[in-house]
Amino acid sequence: MKFRLLLALLVLPLGAQTTPFGTKVSAPAAAPATTPAPASAPATGGVSDEFVDNSVQVSPFRPTLLPEAKSTRTFQLSKLNRLGSTETTKELRRLYSAFATQSIVDGSPAGSSKAVGYLTTVTYSVLQDLGDNRYLAKAAWPAAGPNEALAAGVDTMALLLLEKPAKAGDTGNLTGMHVGTVAVLFTPDFAPLKGRRLTLRREAFVECATLEDSPAGLQRFVEAIVAGAELSVTTNETIPCKKCGGLGFTREAQKGQLLDKRVPCADCASTGKLIISVETKFVP
Ligand SMILES: [Zn+2]
Repeated sequence: MKFRLLLALLVLPLGAQTTPFGTKVSAPAAAPATTPAPASAPATGGVSDEFVDNSVQVSPFRPTLLPEAKSTRTFQLSKLNRLGSTETTKELRRLYSAFATQSIVDGSPAGSSKAVGYLTTVTYSVLQDLGDNRYLAKAAWPAAGPNEALAAGVDTMALLLLEKPAKAGDTGNLTGMHVGTVAVLFTPDFAPLKGRRLTLRREAFVECATLEDSPAGLQRFVEAIVAGAELSVTTNETIPCKKCGGLGFTREAQKGQLLDKRVPCADCASTGKLIISVETKFVP
């Protein structure tokens, strides 16, 4: 539940989050005023020149787009290890391993949900607490997703939604789900940007836990499918090229010659194979 709430806070469309962030300054916090004060109103406390706008706004800038599977197929548990069926224990283990890395543990009835972004390991050093468990951090992460859909980050600023409170200077690493790029409007309290109100567009990650890739995890997965859970996994699969029938070339008849001319297949770059994204749906 907590996770879902935090995720909503981070990726809430349009409604930018304004949160007071007044713990580190003695000046009045940027609390939203219910009635706008006239511009010429005398400052009651006489400290108007001390006012620092420390409010933070995080708004989605570019969401993560997961690739759509080019093809779908079904994995039927009742056919497991039957002669001639593709549903083997080895294949089930392989698909479950992929499923585990694409799912995040949460408070849903099934105990987990499909990750809405690529999962990667983020190494970080917190630069600033932005409130609501959101942190600006110096971060690094390896590329993730097919064809490195999420490019690697090297010593770059990123926005992190952490599970536990942290403070500037804290370092660590976490499993992070990329939730796209966000625009962060805030006032940095670190050099050399200190005190300048600005907007940064940065990759955002939500700390999360993936499913356990273990025999016990696989057992729970199978039980969930038998109980009617609709689960699927998307993997890259190598299939024979349709155009050339897996040969890597097509034949072209040559007038007056016994042998056909072999034309390299452009679809598969003469490999005879194609790699496509396949969604496998599991059924009892
Ligand atoms: Zn081909």
